[in-house]
Amino acid sequence: MSRFSRQSFLGERSDALLGRSKVAIVGLCGGGSHIAQQLAHIGVGNFVLFDPDHAEDSNINRMVGLTWAGAVSEASKVQVMHERILGVNPDANVEPFSTRWQDNLGPLKECTVIFGCIDSFQARVELEGFARRHMVPYIDVGMDVSGDPNRFVITGQVILSLPGYWCMRCMGYPSEKRLKEDAEAYGKAGGRPQVVWPNGILASMAVDKFMRLLTPWNDGPESLPDLYTEFDGIRQVLKPHAAIQALCAAQKVCGHFQEAGSLGDIHI
Ligand SMILES: [Zn+2]
Repeated sequence: MSRFSRQSFLGERSDALLGRSKVAIVGLCGGGSHIAQQLAHIGVGNFVLFDPDHAEDSNINRMVGLTWAGAVSEASKVQVMHERILGVNPDANVEPFSTRWQDNLGPLKECTVIFGCIDSFQARVELEGFARRHMVPYIDVGMDVSGDPNRFVITGQVILSLPGYWCMRCMGYPSEKRLKEDAEAYGKAGGRPQVVWPNGILASMAVDKFMRLLTPWNDGPESLPDLYTEFDGIRQVLKPHAAIQALCAAQKVCGHFQEAGSLGDIHI
């Protein structure tokens, strides 16, 4: 029986499509590790991995594929996920870059889809801009823990930024307030709280959007994935952002980032 016999509903040519597809994952810890693992299982054939960090003990709470031995030896995060992907599919082609994505732009331009799983809001805006300028669909994954010790709140979102459709900032994300906070926090030790299960929920939704883009399994009237899906970790709800849905339905076109090669963000 074929390795993929249980996913034949994805379409006759889907295995070939997935095998030919080349996916970039930028950031391989909380969200990115789940995405890399799922895409390896489903049969994506080519991976471009970016993360400049090394794994450590504090990553074990959220990075799937990271073992205690990997954390102790401080393996690079791309090495951990490279091995994980090949462990699932030895035929996969993996290009691992233990650098910032800005230092190796070439492989990103050739990708079917770019997944952004990075902490910094400003870096996500820059990565989205790059993807849009090169007409590559971009899927952004983010989770957040706010509140206080009496009542913590987990939220998150998965945003699909497609050429011709609205970009993230047209959708109001990230807000100017978030960008300002991000700039002020730059360089401070520590990071935003992250845990494995909301990362897994959000990463699975990101893979869902990718599969809807790539394969014809749901080519009905709702075949275009929702552009903005939000997660309410208190109410255990994952749903399309109603206001964004309405806005996008009314005016689908976004004119930002249209000049190929342009380095400037011309948001107005
Ligand atoms: Zn826009």
